[in-house]
Amino acid sequence: MTVLIAGGGIAGLTLGLTLHQIGVPFRVFEATQTLKPMGVGINLQPNAVRELFDLGLEADLDAIGVRTRSLGFYSKLGHTIWEEPRGMAAGYAWPQFSVHRGALQMLLYETLIARAGADVIETDARATGCEEAGNRAILHLEGGRQETGTLLLAADGIHSALRAQFFPQEGPPIWDGRILWRATTRAPLVRGEGAMMMIGHDSLRFVSYPISAADEQGIATLNWIAEKRFDPDSDFQREDWNRAVEVERFIGDFSEWRFDWIDVPALIRGAGRIFEYPMVDRDPLPQWTFGRCSLMGDAAHPTYPIGSNGASQAILDARVIGARLLEHGITKAALDAYEGDMRPAATRIGFANRSGNGPDAVLQQVETLCGGDFEEIDSVIPRAELAAHAAKYKAISGFSIEELNAQPPTIAEGMRLR
Ligand SMILES: Cc1cc2nc3c(=O)[nH]c(=O)nc-3n(C[C@H](O)[C@H](O)[C@H](O)COP(=O)(O)OP(=O)(O)OC[C@H]3O[C@@H](n4cnc5c(N)ncnc54)[C@H](O)[C@@H]3O)c2cc1C
Repeated sequence: MTVLIAGGGIAGLTLGLTLHQIGVPFRVFEATQTLKPMGVGINLQPNAVRELFDLGLEADLDAIGVRTRSLGFYSKLGHTIWEEPRGMAAGYAWPQFSVHRGALQMLLYETLIARAGADVIETDARATGCEEAGNRAILHLEGGRQETGTLLLAADGIHSALRAQFFPQEGPPIWDGRILWRATTRAPLVRGEGAMMMIGHDSLRFVSYPISAADEQGIATLNWIAEKRFDPDSDFQREDWNRAVEVERFIGDFSEWRFDWIDVPALIRGAGRIFEYPMVDRDPLPQWTFGRCSLMGDAAHPTYPIGSNGASQAILDARVIGARLLEHGITKAALDAYEGDMRPAATRIGFANRSGNGPDAVLQQVETLCGGDFEEIDSVIPRAELAAHAAKYKAISGFSIEELNAQPPTIAEGMRLR
């Protein structure tokens, strides 16, 4: 009755921890030879943090990340458009976390091994395909090996081999014309502890937030993303989370962005390695579950990294799969129920991010209305309108405050599969 998991990223490892928690046998097959802390900063929304706390990871998250306290939107001239509290400061029962993606992955990996033993995860094991044979799911691995289980979850990321098997015509991810440059810089905190900020508009934008607490000198690790729009028909190199580039490639575009509260060019220049990544996603799928195999995480619903939802949704997938296994046993019905719960929301989020209706839509609105130049935001967009927009995106993503706080745990404490 083993559940096979292809991919040991955020989704696959959270699923491993969840299955261990509820007493379901599983094995994870990860393509890389050695898991290393790759990537830069990501955000975990309160709905996902709640799930990680339920996995007993609260103290560990505090050790590797920062509780996000506020989010602000600013025009390209540095004027304040909208600021709101986040996480517990906003009234959620759980915090939002800003964390290094690699540190989170290593935390999940090391915790999984400590709790379930090293045998539950095999590295250097690349999934190439899958099939259903009677009441078994078969995972094909590079080199011609096969592994057999009862169910199979494809958590193999945006370039999922298993998704490609089910949707062979799909082709590469879709680029919307924006390029992201991402890095971290050791620098003084900007706008205080746990403050996340987005500056600019749709064609040129800068996002920053701390992913460590400040040291005794007030210096923290600030994650930042500089973003520029190009002609989507121009060539771009395949997305690769690890492609490093020189700062001169883009710093000129931000040379004027020095305000009395942030010096963007200085922050950019202070970085270590800078990674270039095109803003890509994929079209929402009509189906995630094929008999005994289901897609999850980025394999199922890769979306733009703008609403802080990629890792959060991957974590929720894992927890809902666990909940449905408890309800339906290790059966195909559990996978169908998981898809029924999660696919509609993932589709809504993907479309909201793509259509420019993400939480950051106000930036472009202000740019269009006044070129970012104003004294009082009310003269451009009424505050009530800004508040309504912020609330709408939270509802789409399933993290509206009252709803989330009132929801019972996805997996009640102590639940085990009988
Ligand atoms: C190296 C790396 C760096 C990243 N950096 C960032 C970042 O800086 N910011 C950000 O917002 N998001 C980043 N992401 C994406 C982010 O982690 C995901 O959007 C989100 O967390 C969803 O997690 P996931 O587990 O579905 O996908 P991922 O976290 O991408 O994990 C997929 C896992 O599957 C493995 N894999 C791939 N193909 C196969 C295969 N055929 N067989 C077996 N295993 C396979 C991969 O090695 C990886 O460990 C990064 C992803 C990777 C892989």
